[in-house]
Amino acid sequence: MSPDLPTRIKQCARDAGFDLCGIAPTRDFAELQVFPKWIADRKHGEMKYMEARDETGELKRAALARVAPWARSVVVCAINYNTAHPYSTQTEATSRGWISRYAWSREDYHDAVLRRLKQVEDGLRGLLDSTGNWPLATGNLHFRSYVDTGPLIERIFAKYAGVGWIGKNTCIINQQLGSWLFLGVIITSLDLADHHLTADLPAPDRCGTCTRCITACPTQAIIAPGELDARLCISYLTIEKRGEIPDELRAAMGRHVFGCDICQDVCPWNRKAPAASAEEFEPREGLVNPTLDWLAEMQPEEFRKVFRGSPVRRAKLSGLRRNATIAMGNSGDKKFLPTLIKLCEDSDPVVAEHARWALATLTSERYSPPGSEKGKDRTSVVP
Ligand code: SF4
Ligand code: SF4
Repeated sequence: MSPDLPTRIKQCARDAGFDLCGIAPTRDFAELQVFPKWIADRKHGEMKYMEARDETGELKRAALARVAPWARSVVVCAINYNTAHPYSTQTEATSRGWISRYAWSREDYHDAVLRRLKQVEDGLRGLLDSTGNWPLATGNLHFRSYVDTGPLIERIFAKYAGVGWIGKNTCIINQQLGSWLFLGVIITSLDLADHHLTADLPAPDRCGTCTRCITACPTQAIIAPGELDARLCISYLTIEKRGEIPDELRAAMGRHVFGCDICQDVCPWNRKAPAASAEEFEPREGLVNPTLDWLAEMQPEEFRKVFRGSPVRRAKLSGLRRNATIAMGNSGDKKFLPTLIKLCEDSDPVVAEHARWALATLTSERYSPPGSEKGKDRTSVVP
């Protein structure tokens, strides 16, 4: 093996526009061992794709060696998506919504990252052709590029590729760039990582005694350092959860209509996070601090137009309108009353139910959950 092959692969990644690249071996890392219990405890909520199992019943994401027995290395690439806009914690605009920073982008990050991964893959094939290093592969040469969809937990491999450490907020954090990073991986049969001269070392944990993210989380979703109960997380609730949001979590969701950045906004490693150079991560018009009534009353045609090729589509129109309705209830701004009164009669029963909650919240001093005596009285404000 040419000793500088990993170095040349990293150059390919830089040429493709990635900010960081490292190579991890395919081992049963300690972090993977806790995943089955996390799933067994149902902390992934309704995210069925996380439960995907192979034919032997093993969780695919915890068993790369079984799902892809040919895999020897994982090339982990990362690209900064930060833009020069204030953090959610730096603005007081409670009458406006918040869409997570990663979802503002003009191009869906899956496409933007996968395109670059394919470029790295091509470069890698070119390198191998030119150096004749095919014997590095076990059997046939394999490359598989993934952005979020692979049979692995990307951030664990990112750690062992030296891209960053896994913060207490569960995000990959790089000492220079912070945590506004999209990850993409190339799983390969090439044995790139175990070469004693070139192996990347896991990034050292630099969270130290800091607990800002844990303290700042409005729903106490970070139940232990590096462990999330997704069912409590606003990102999960606003994006993945279908139907009704549990009543007791609605108030804590604040003005979040798609995702939540708080545990990254408060992280000291993001204080000086540089802005990305990739133009496709610049925000689409209207998505930074979006107006809530615009989203809550959005019709299917406009939803398709505004969010074509955007990650926001994952919430679906019903979910986005539901979230905007909750945010109006949490805004404290009575200007939303006419809109909410109208939405109480919405043809989407989920939106209508959340509109009744929002209306009651806006018009009462203190919100009481349905079923309580006060909660029953409160329904009298609903027309
Ligand atoms: S994304 Fe928001 S709700 Fe989820 S853990 Fe971070 S701060 Fe908490
Ligand atoms: S806020 Fe503090 S504890 Fe949380 S991820 Fe950042 S450095 Fe780690």
